[in-house]
Amino acid sequence: MNRSILSRKEFIRNSAWALAGATLIPGMLFADEREEHAGLNSLNVNNTGKSFTLKNVRLETGFDYEDGDVVATKTGIFSVEIANGKIKKVSTGQPHADAIDVKGMLMLPSFRDMHIHLDKTFYGDKWQAVRRRTGGVKGMIALEQEILPEMLKNSTYKAEKLIELLQSKGTSFARSHVNIEPTSKLDSLRHLQKALDNKKKGFGAELVAFPQHGVFYTNTAPYLKEAAQAGVDFIGGVDPFTVDGAIEKTMDFTIQLALDHHKGIDIHLHETGESGLKTVEYLISKVNENPVLKGKTYLSHCFVLGKLDQAKQEEMAEKLGAAQIGINSTIPFGGLIMPIPMLMKHQVKVMTGNDSIVDHWNTFGTGSVLYKANMAAQLYGHNTEFGLSRMLGLATAGPLPLDDKGQQQWPKAGDAADFVLVDASCSAEAVSRLSPVKSLIYQGTVVF
Ligand SMILES: [Zn+2]
Repeated sequence: MNRSILSRKEFIRNSAWALAGATLIPGMLFADEREEHAGLNSLNVNNTGKSFTLKNVRLETGFDYEDGDVVATKTGIFSVEIANGKIKKVSTGQPHADAIDVKGMLMLPSFRDMHIHLDKTFYGDKWQAVRRRTGGVKGMIALEQEILPEMLKNSTYKAEKLIELLQSKGTSFARSHVNIEPTSKLDSLRHLQKALDNKKKGFGAELVAFPQHGVFYTNTAPYLKEAAQAGVDFIGGVDPFTVDGAIEKTMDFTIQLALDHHKGIDIHLHETGESGLKTVEYLISKVNENPVLKGKTYLSHCFVLGKLDQAKQEEMAEKLGAAQIGINSTIPFGGLIMPIPMLMKHQVKVMTGNDSIVDHWNTFGTGSVLYKANMAAQLYGHNTEFGLSRMLGLATAGPLPLDDKGQQQWPKAGDAADFVLVDASCSAEAVSRLSPVKSLIYQGTVVF
């Protein structure tokens, strides 16, 4: 069996929590069944060069207004042709005879988990609750130094299981942080790269070299330099002041490494006090000095933004927006409310992810970013048709079928064939009701 595609057994196991009672779309078969149905060549998932057509696909076409308010989403039924991993044609015409009938399912851009640790998880292994924490982040570093050698032994297998969980929730792409420190050296990275290679037909990823144990608190700098040449896309970081005891020294190292190797930056920042604010301000000034970093620099969590008064929040949101620094926010965040709507108002790119699914940091991850969009809609009161439809952008990390004016902007011929088929009448319903994801297509490959 092709390991990159979910088998029926794996899918049912992965999705059993949230998709109890999920039914299959007729004509869409799991990889293990497909091998027994050689006649269905139109769905040859092992070759993205093959083409197929879906019929009775529901697409959003516009908004219905009443007194200036969006009260409903208009949809239509279309045929969608897929070839060479791309959407070739969207039409209302009569499809050819062997088109696959998806029976009015809603097609949405596939989901993207933009902050997760695929390399470091208990998922697929035995259950363990989080232990009582002592010694703050440095206590957690000491704990990791103790448990990582054991966790690394089957980290490729667990990453593959975790990817299957994400796929079952409609996610086809992740930005994964990967531990780089003297305990794991580059093993966590290499194990994850192997898992991603095994899954590449159904899942894409970009990687962040993550110095979880500090750049200088442990002697991680040489390993980061090595990782920068070993296939990562971003240079990461964690609380420079708390862990390394210095903001500028750590940030300068991180920024220079990113510049030298043409990488992006994505730094975990949990610090909420003065050091947190200083770190944000320092990063903004450095990105403005080095405009090549604009649009590829991110702060993950950035809890300090939730602690500022409103005027300072506005000021920081405006500066982050101008420097094109994005915020990756997990949702929810304990008792803290992040100013996500304000960030969005200032054109700050806000994305979300599961971060932990089940590990020594947290055990509440569902694997669904649609659930994160739902939580955000609840937290910020985006409960109208329009508000709910906009929150879908947190699950897709950007693309939406309709723009703010209700103009159809997705899918278009030439777009990557990365989409989900959802049992919902529109985006707003999918976000509000956490509608079941019935199928995931990644680069023209039917994952399930
Ligand atoms: Zn994280």
